[in-house]
Formats: sequence, C-alpha cells, structure tokens
Amino acid sequence: MDGMMMHRPLRVADILTFAEEIHADQGIVSSTVEGGMHRLGYADMGARSRKLAKALLALGVGIGDRVATLAWNGYRHMELYYGTPGMGAVCHTINPRLSAEQMAYIVNHADDKVMFLDLTFVPMVERLASQFPGNLIYVIQTDRAHMPDTTLRALCYEELLAAQDDGYDWPDLSEETACGLCYTSGTTGHPKGALYSHRSMVLHALMVGVCMPYCMQPGRKVLPVVPMFHANAWGLAHAAPMAGASLVMPGPHLDGASVFDLMDGEEVFSAWGVPTVWLGLMAEIEKRGRVPAGFGEVVIGGSAAPASMIRFYEDQGVSVCHAWGMTEMSPVGTLGILSPSMQAQPARDRLRLKSSQGRRMFGVDLKIVGEHGTRQPHDGAATGELFVRGSTVVSGYYANEEASAAALDDDGWFGTGDMASISPEGFLTITDRAKDLIKSGGEWISSIDVENMAMAHPDIANCAVIAVPHPKWGERPVLVAVPAVEAPNTDAIMAHLAEHLAKWQLPDDVVYVDELPLTATGKVSKLTLRRQYADHELPGAV
Ligand code: ADP
Repeated sequence: MDGMMMHRPLRVADILTFAEEIHADQGIVSSTVEGGMHRLGYADMGARSRKLAKALLALGVGIGDRVATLAWNGYRHMELYYGTPGMGAVCHTINPRLSAEQMAYIVNHADDKVMFLDLTFVPMVERLASQFPGNLIYVIQTDRAHMPDTTLRALCYEELLAAQDDGYDWPDLSEETACGLCYTSGTTGHPKGALYSHRSMVLHALMVGVCMPYCMQPGRKVLPVVPMFHANAWGLAHAAPMAGASLVMPGPHLDGASVFDLMDGEEVFSAWGVPTVWLGLMAEIEKRGRVPAGFGEVVIGGSAAPASMIRFYEDQGVSVCHAWGMTEMSPVGTLGILSPSMQAQPARDRLRLKSSQGRRMFGVDLKIVGEHGTRQPHDGAATGELFVRGSTVVSGYYANEEASAAALDDDGWFGTGDMASISPEGFLTITDRAKDLIKSGGEWISSIDVENMAMAHPDIANCAVIAVPHPKWGERPVLVAVPAVEAPNTDAIMAHLAEHLAKWQLPDDVVYVDELPLTATGKVSKLTLRRQYADHELPGAV
C-alpha cells in the first residue's frame, strides 16, 4: 500500500524562495574582484536571481542548456547557482585552474551556450576563445564602469540584469531535472562530468545541514574557502540559505593573511577548505598570536588533514571537523562529528577519532571491498577499496558511456578509488588513493600515514610521500618536504619517523623543495611529483 502524501518536487529555487521569506535578514558578504566588500541580503539575491533567469531566457537559453561559470566565490556566482537551474538550465561550474587543454575539452564536451566569467579570467578566455564553440555567448560579471577592453564580444552582467524586472515564477520542474554540472579534474584521461539533479542537490543540502548544526543555524557566518567551482562549495551554497546562515565569500583572496583579515572583520564562525589553505592560516595565526575573532570551527577536507594541523586548531579552541568526499558525491560523504561521550574522551583518543575522515552522513552508505571482491568487515583493521551508494552519488558520467559503464559495480555501488578501513563505530580512515599507495616488496605503504607522521616534526612545513621505482623492492617511499626551518635536520626527522613506523615503511630518501606542486583543486599533486622523481636515485639502490 502506498502512502497518501503529496509529491512536491525538490527544487533548488525553493531554497532561495524560502531564504527570501524566512531568512531575509541574512545573506552574502563578498570580497569582490573589483575591490572592496559587497553585502546582499537573501531577499535581494532572490530578486536578482529571478532577473538573471529572465535574462537567460532572453539570451535563448532553454531547459537543459548548459551555462558555464568561471568565477570566484561571490554573490554573482550565487545568483548563477540559483537563477540558472531555477529556470531549468544547468549551471556548469568550471575550475579555472585546469590546463588550457582540459578547459577547451570541458567547454566543448558540455557544449556550453553561455559563459559567465569574472574579470580575472578575461585574459585567459581571450586566449582560449578560438578553441571554444563559435556561438558561445560571453558575459563578464561586473558593471559597466568596470567592463574591460577585450577582444571577446562580451555582455555586461549588471546591464543584463538591469534590463529585466524580477516578476518571474520559477517553473515547475521535475526534481530529476539536471541542475548542475562539475567535471572532476581528471588526473588521468579526460575530465568526467558529474551531473547533479535538483533532487540530489536539495537532499545534499539537507544532509549537510543536519550533520553540521553548529554552523548551519540562523545568523551564523560561514566562509567557504572551498571554491564554488569545486564540487558545489561542499554544499554550503545551498545548505546555508536553507538554514539561515550567512555566507562570507573570499573572492580571489585566498592567502593566509587575506583569509585571516576577512574572517576577523566579519567574525566568521565556521570556515571550510582544503589543508593547504589552513596551513596558510596557521602561519598567520602564529604570526599574529591569535585566531580571527569569532572563529569556532574549521572544516578540513579534499585531502587528508594531518594530525598536527588538527591539534594546532583544537589547541587554539577551534573545533576541527575532518571531512571526506568527492565531486561524484555532491561532494560530502563523511564528516568528523563526535558524539558527546567521544567528546569527553581523553585528548589523545579524541585526536585519533578526529584524524580519521569521520562518519557517514545519513543517506550515504559505505562498503569496503578486498582484493578478490569480498566485502570486508567494519572492524577498523581490514582495508579495501571504498564503495559508496546514495541519492547524492552519481549513477554515471555526463555523455560518457565508457566511464559510466565502469563507474558502478554489479550491485550498483560507486567505486571511489580510495583505500580505506571503517571502525565498528563507523569512522572511516582513508589510507590512500589506490594510485598513491606505495607497493614495496609486496607490502603496501600508506603515503598518508607517513605524511601524517612527518608533518608532526617541527622542521617540516608541508610534505608529500611518493613512490619511486626501486630495482629490488619495486617501489620505495620518498619524502618530499618543504622545510619549516633553514637547515632541517634529516637525521632527527628520520628518527622521529622511526618511532612511529616500521623500518620498511620509512622513506628511503628525504628531498627538500621550496614548494609542492598543486592540482587544480589545491591539493598536492603526487602525479606531478612521481613524474619529477621517476628517475630519482635512491641511496643504496643498485
Ligand atoms: P579532485 O580529484 O579533482 O581533487 P575531488 O574533490 O572529487 O576532486 O577528489 C576526491 C578525492 O579526494 C577522494 O576520492 C579522496 O581521494 C580525496 N580526499 C577527499 N577528502 C579527503 C580526506 N579528508 N582525506 C583523504 N583524502 C581525501
């Protein structure tokens, strides 16, 4: 027997309509590309998003068409997040840090109709325009006074909006309608598109909101340092207006000092981003001898948060939430939320729990599968490839039959490519990306484990552990480190590692570098490092 309840489609535009009415006193604070701060309440954002929807219609954009954005986090990008899917088109966020080749591939593969770009990216798009579809319409996200001289035949965002009134009813779309498109940066092969639906986006926002009650509440200020061009800014652009939290947007200003000043000035409670950003902020906190005013929570994800970083923030009174997810999961999968009894545990045990990647959100199922396809127990010891399932997980990739066919296992679970264990209490520990694991003499070495230990040594500011080919062992780990001091003491670092790791897990060599290469999503690029050090001569190797 079926239930007898109404079926109202879950639509992204309803989040905005709700925020306009219920949370009209909250909104978006943006550090702008043009310079200076800009404030926009949710009510005005609603009106401007409706004008944008009408402007898109006037440009000939129809249901299902892809509308590209090349933009920092800011209020105009938020309007695109709502106005575009609200009228039935697909908001295609492009990562500006991708290579020219990848960007040209993505824009053509998505067959974008319109591209909205921040002033920062005008020169880049001018260079690439000949490789983009000939009929692509460009809109520069600024006002007339700031329109640049450009070879692009570009429209002005504020003029587009000014030409419309805000009398517009969001259309009744089915909740399965595509609403967002984000390509994974694709370390190998072409990038692949995760195509989100209205339903998955709304569910994901609800799930994040339920799991993060301290920041997702009326009046809180939340800072997504994680870009809106990277996996929906981890759900914040949707969860915050729903909950009545305000968003503080950093624009292009992502260095430690700028992030500190913005947080301090706006009294941001919760800030979300990848470890590299929080390393920058740590240096700034040490320099100024205090944390930004009002700072209570930091969400760290995208790559493993070292235990030393977690301890640093917790010691400053900032609660750390270590999160794991991927573009294909909308993106959040697990969050480091402890129960009250876990919070009451001794600091050491708490740190151990917080260093794991956290526990699954409601609606995300996890399983780990061993080498021969056997499901592994969740006993905290057994490891295997992590598979996920849920309404916020992709079922395939946009217009890519080959990748879609390989995405799910026979039971319909998505293979993440991450190696992991899960404890009986549900804490997920990512040991590595499968391709970053180091296989030495038939044994696996987790690069994350070794990095975690190395980061705890005061002579190391940042590091990555990579596999280097070895004639006898197949591969051996090498520690590539950015030193924190002028003359790092390699013997002391190795002695420190030897305290925590088995002999065969210790790096064969330590190489010092000024900086580590980053991927388009701000993570350390181990692929680049592996290429750089492929011929590295290991001491003792013949
Ligand atoms: P990209 O591959 O472009 O960086 P994603 O954000 O989708 O884009 O990357 C997802 C991957 O990032 C995960 O599969 C995992 O390998 C890694 N990752 C994300 N969060 C964590 C974390 N907290 N700890 C370890 N690895 C993480």
